[in-house]
Amino acid sequence: MAVLGFRPELNKCVACGKKIEPVDQYFSPKLGGALCPNCNAKDAQAWRVSMPALKYFRFFQRSAYSQVRGRVIPPQVEPELKALLERYFTYLLEYGLRTPKFIQAVS
Ligand SMILES: [Zn+2]
Repeated sequence: MAVLGFRPELNKCVACGKKIEPVDQYFSPKLGGALCPNCNAKDAQAWRVSMPALKYFRFFQRSAYSQVRGRVIPPQVEPELKALLERYFTYLLEYGLRTPKFIQAVS
């Protein structure tokens, strides 16, 4: 994703800076990344994201497009991950950032 010109923070909370623990988290496109359960009130539009979905999001973020394309996503994670990415990219598009081809990789 860095290649595509944006890089959400997924390893620490964007509000308090604490390392993301392996429990369900929140995601805030507005603040640019993951919010820990203590900070989710900082953005009313942040939504809950499960740890497996967040892990795949991280994987995509640090991987080349070619790697991502061949990756099989577990069926129990895929719908959430897709929804997460779609929501995130919709947010980015609304704010005038360029269109990522990326989402096709997981569609
Ligand atoms: Zn926090």
